[in-house]
Amino acid sequence: MSHVDTEVRPSNFIRNIIDEDLESGKHTRVHTRFPPEPNGYLHIGHAKSICLNFGLAQDYKGLCNLRFDDTNPEKEDIDYVNSIQADVHWLGFQWDGEIRYSSNYFDQLHQYAVELINKGLAYVCFLNGEQTREYRGTLKEPGKNSPYRDTFVEENLELFEKMRKGEFKEGECALRAKIDMASPFMCMRDPVIYRIRFAHHHQTGDKWCIYPMYDFTHCISDALEDITHSLCTLEFQDNRRLYDWVLDNLDDFQAPNRTRQYEFSRLNLEYTLMSKRKLNDLVVRGLVSGWDDPRMPTIAGLRRRGYTPAAIREFCRRIGVTKQENMVEVSMLDACIREELNEHAPRAMAVINPVKVIIENYPEGQVEKLSAPAHPTIESMGERELVFGRELYIDADDFREEANKKYKRLIQGKEVRLRNAYVIKAERCDKDEAGNVTTIYCTYDDQTLGKNPADGRKVKGVIHWVEATSAVPAEFRLYDRLFNQPNPAAAETVDEVLNPKSLVVKHGLVEPGLVNAEAEKAYQFEREGYFCADSKDSSPEHLVFNLTVALRDSSN
Ligand code: ATP
Ligand code: MG
Repeated sequence: MSHVDTEVRPSNFIRNIIDEDLESGKHTRVHTRFPPEPNGYLHIGHAKSICLNFGLAQDYKGLCNLRFDDTNPEKEDIDYVNSIQADVHWLGFQWDGEIRYSSNYFDQLHQYAVELINKGLAYVCFLNGEQTREYRGTLKEPGKNSPYRDTFVEENLELFEKMRKGEFKEGECALRAKIDMASPFMCMRDPVIYRIRFAHHHQTGDKWCIYPMYDFTHCISDALEDITHSLCTLEFQDNRRLYDWVLDNLDDFQAPNRTRQYEFSRLNLEYTLMSKRKLNDLVVRGLVSGWDDPRMPTIAGLRRRGYTPAAIREFCRRIGVTKQENMVEVSMLDACIREELNEHAPRAMAVINPVKVIIENYPEGQVEKLSAPAHPTIESMGERELVFGRELYIDADDFREEANKKYKRLIQGKEVRLRNAYVIKAERCDKDEAGNVTTIYCTYDDQTLGKNPADGRKVKGVIHWVEATSAVPAEFRLYDRLFNQPNPAAAETVDEVLNPKSLVVKHGLVEPGLVNAEAEKAYQFEREGYFCADSKDSSPEHLVFNLTVALRDSSN
């Protein structure tokens, strides 16, 4: 399943840490985890984390868990749980054993909270939200101790039990770790570790009305799963203190080689929003058709757009893993898919802005079968059948009544080669009242079929075409970036940075063989771009093709 070539894998600081840990004997194995919160679909940023965590496990012959970090039942949904599994598989990775859920550990987490209370390290606090904020202090000023901080252990145990039984209202109180209200790290100022939520949970149903907080849950889940290297993004750097504090204070986790947290910089991509909350907004407001809209940076969107797992993995390899915050150019992602499709995608012809061509010296009512390679260099991909006849369609942009030498397409009075077929000459054309060309009348030379016609005629231009009676109507969805600003996250509202032309729909024609095009599998439509049949909306009766990526980078 792995396509990872360790030879070409660049080293990074996390690999250096692992190498040292293995060399010193601190660890004899590598065990990572990918811990998504099931509150949205995975995006290309998650792919970076997936490739890192699963990739390390593969390369070091270790293991990687998939763990749903599901401590926030109100925002979570089983649909997300399912899509995340499908996306990880699709990217080419397999987790070790069963899927894990933080909620699997709710009983144990509860016990560990009781252990902290018993040690005088946690207390039930009745300050309301506003008071809690006020007592917390600021980055410049230390906080103040909560008046509930010195409640006796026995009373705290009782109060926590009452919380568990649902005897307090939501927000009335919370369990806080007793650490240091003057700590320079805000996360250490007596953070909440359990709160009350009367919410149904997708895994545990109505068993609990208290839910553990992320910082308390994550380190314990890692430790319970014997994770060796817990990799997360830089915004959790400060929280590492809390990660260690929780484990330091629980008897079960005193092994010197227990899990450690390491942080790397998250992926930021130009012209792209990456926060699940903001992506969810786009979906809810109907600004895109769903999480899998082909313009979305989600794995599901990229898949529907025609991206391949290999191209996404290659992108993640190229961006590397560091601690530097940076913004990656979209052209890097485009280049990965373009390189792969140029090499592997079958070729086909599609006419997006059709205009009719009549070959006047071709017998009426006759059609002939021609053959063309499915790929210019990969012979094993075989041949495809084309139909040629008296009436054809070419792209309106490929004809001019007059043009200079730079225009290497069809010009009135001149010749051009039809891709995989004959040389034709434009004789005259019809136009409508607005001056648009409606029909081009041509003649063809029947001695010019094949790659090396014997006539030795010098015809520079080659254009694509389809035959009128056999071509199949198709809808083309031409996608562009969703935002017209490199950093849409900086905008006040998404509305002001939405690209109004992120989707342009055209109706044209494709060669007959494409009726059975497999969804999400991209073709190179010659001279047009890479396209794939849409997995939701395309059918043989109504073909819909998504633009995966243009043939060339036009951004610079
Ligand atoms: P978002 O901010 O998009 O909502 P998140 O961090 O809340 O993302 P999680 O489901 O908690 O999403 O993320 C699962 C894992 O993926 C975490 O370890 C997180 O650090 C990592 N991750 C999320 N976004 C990125 C990103 N842009 N680049 C790299 N890793 C990421
Ligand atoms: Mg998160």
